Amino acid sequence: MVKKSMQFCSFCGKSKNEVMILISGMDAHICESCVNQAQQIIQEELNHNNKKGGFVLNSNLKPKNIKDFLDDYIIGQDEAKKVIAVAVYNHYKRLNLPVKEDDIEIEKSNIILVGRTGTGKTLIAKTIAKLLNVPFAIVDATVFTEAGYVGEDVESILTRLLQVCDYNIDAAQKGIVYIDEIDKIARKSDNPSITRDVSGEGVQQSLLKMLEGTEVLVPPQGGRKHPDQKLVKVDTKNILFICGGAFDGIERKIGNRVQRQEIGFKNANNTEVEVDKENLLKYINHADLKAFGLIPELLGRLPILSYLEPLDKNALRNILTQPKNALMKQYSKLFEMEGVHLEIEDDALDYIVDQAMENKLGARGLRSILEAIMNDAMFELPSQDDVKTFVVTKTYAEEKLKKTNISKLKVA
Ligand code: ADP
Repeated sequence: MVKKSMQFCSFCGKSKNEVMILISGMDAHICESCVNQAQQIIQEELNHNNKKGGFVLNSNLKPKNIKDFLDDYIIGQDEAKKVIAVAVYNHYKRLNLPVKEDDIEIEKSNIILVGRTGTGKTLIAKTIAKLLNVPFAIVDATVFTEAGYVGEDVESILTRLLQVCDYNIDAAQKGIVYIDEIDKIARKSDNPSITRDVSGEGVQQSLLKMLEGTEVLVPPQGGRKHPDQKLVKVDTKNILFICGGAFDGIERKIGNRVQRQEIGFKNANNTEVEVDKENLLKYINHADLKAFGLIPELLGRLPILSYLEPLDKNALRNILTQPKNALMKQYSKLFEMEGVHLEIEDDALDYIVDQAMENKLGARGLRSILEAIMNDAMFELPSQDDVKTFVVTKTYAEEKLKKTNISKLKVA
């Protein structure tokens, strides 16, 4: 009797011969397709519960705590961090707002970050997602074109988000999307009707509804939509969009505006307003982005604007050693796993930073420089049991880096 039941899946009744795998329990069995089905049921149930409960922002998490968390990973950029901490706090507070308690509806606080490439824009967005434990996707605005042209539909932004959370729609609907290179879809000409502008204004238009919050039909595998495709409905009302771009040359536009305003303007104390011409980015406002070619409708949906400062030597040096997962900490860990204590001398660190600055490699280049310096040691040390400490001196760093074609280290 027991023997006979061993041959069948206790759930679907198929015999051992009809299935690929039959897993045995105490006195029951299950085949691979029933395991799969059970897995789906569990997922649906979890999603359902998630939907009922909603996303609850930890009540201890105040803007200050968000900023503190960002401080652990991102060097400098205090202004941006503060602005974002408040925006994120309000965004998720809005998400937890009981529906229709009063007539005040808090508007969505999508964010736009302006700053040179490699100054931490993506890192900030990614770190916020990590803190909140929500799905996070990075997309590049340059791949989009207006519907009907070669390129991707903007809906594929949501495909990415769905993919990172295994198509859990409820989770995706509370996620964060970082849209990089938003400046590249700026209107090319000041005259909106001069020619068809497929990659610029058209794409900006197609982003509007999604940023504001609407139900979007998303092709689950991405690509272009086609008629027989099964589409997934995603509501973007609670998705936080963070856009970033370098906006090359925007300082000139800011400068023009500030200078125009400066003439005849005085502050509250009736003294001339002193303009910091070295750091014009701190005066950036939505009008400058409009002058750059973003349409007012898009800017209206990105109400929170902040900027990131260029990274100076000091910042680069701190990036090497201070963040929670700083590059030097990562290398130390790797060496430690080989039983080797890694030390790097101060002037070696200065040399690395100088090389990154001189060759305009920025923070991203620090990693490739270090990789070039450390590679030989990482190759040799695992086979050398007697080495317990490894010291990187400036001379060692110079010697290794000289063997490398530094222009090749440039990271796009
Ligand atoms: P972007 O501004 O182009 O989005 P990223 O955020 O992608 O730049 O930065 C690239 C890399 O450089 C990051 O992954 C990080 O390692 C490093 N980095 C850049 N800026 C900072 C910063 N302010 N603090 C710490 N690391 C940084």
